[in-house]
Amino acid sequence: MGAKALQRSQNTLKNADKLALKLDNALKTYPFHEISPNLVVKINPRAKRLALRVDPRANSVNLVVPKRTSMINAYRFADKNRIWIREKLEELPQPISLEHGVVIPLFGQETKINVVYDKTLKKTDITLINKELSIKTNKENPKPRILRYLKKIALERLSALSHEKAAQIDRKITKIDVKDTSSRWGSCSHDAKLSFSWRLIFAPHHAFDYVVAHEVAHLQVMDHSPAFWEACEALCEDYSAGKSWMKHYGGELVRYG
Ligand SMILES: [Zn+2]
Repeated sequence: MGAKALQRSQNTLKNADKLALKLDNALKTYPFHEISPNLVVKINPRAKRLALRVDPRANSVNLVVPKRTSMINAYRFADKNRIWIREKLEELPQPISLEHGVVIPLFGQETKINVVYDKTLKKTDITLINKELSIKTNKENPKPRILRYLKKIALERLSALSHEKAAQIDRKITKIDVKDTSSRWGSCSHDAKLSFSWRLIFAPHHAFDYVVAHEVAHLQVMDHSPAFWEACEALCEDYSAGKSWMKHYGGELVRYG
């Protein structure tokens, strides 16, 4: 790192420290937490104006404060929107924990999670048979294993359906992977790589099918022109039902974890 770059990074650090201090003082001075314990104050140097943003994944509402805005104004702004903040938080889908006894939708089937703990076992064994996700484990907290297993079967099912649909239009997929994104359910790159949210496994079949059809259709038409939607519909089992399910209930998929 050159002298200039070092100077710049020290300045950035100083700025970050200053913002952290400003935030720290503000949280001591103004009762933001009384508006809601799930209100998260964030000073964002790139923000242009005060804003409230709902974050379904974090189950919070973020108050975004521009660098130069005074914290008293930020507090007044949040206080004025107190009712809106609480309503938005109440509307958020409540998280569902992947643990013993919980029923989750998996590929459109109500599936019961059954955990059998046995510390003498050598390893964790997970199977999905007859609407039951059976976990035999020596781990007191098997959740990371369950998540890993679900991501694995997500990739398997998404890959199988993607290749099947790509074959219908005579296209090749170069790579498929799964991610944990809550804003995009899928994507398709110019070099024919597809990527999906593993959480699609919690969606009903027609919605799962629609998202796969959508990304595969991008192998044919990159944009969202009428030609694209036609290609997408042709690849779907039930285009309108799948598309509208994702539009209205897609947010539900972030509940599980
Ligand atoms: Zn698209």
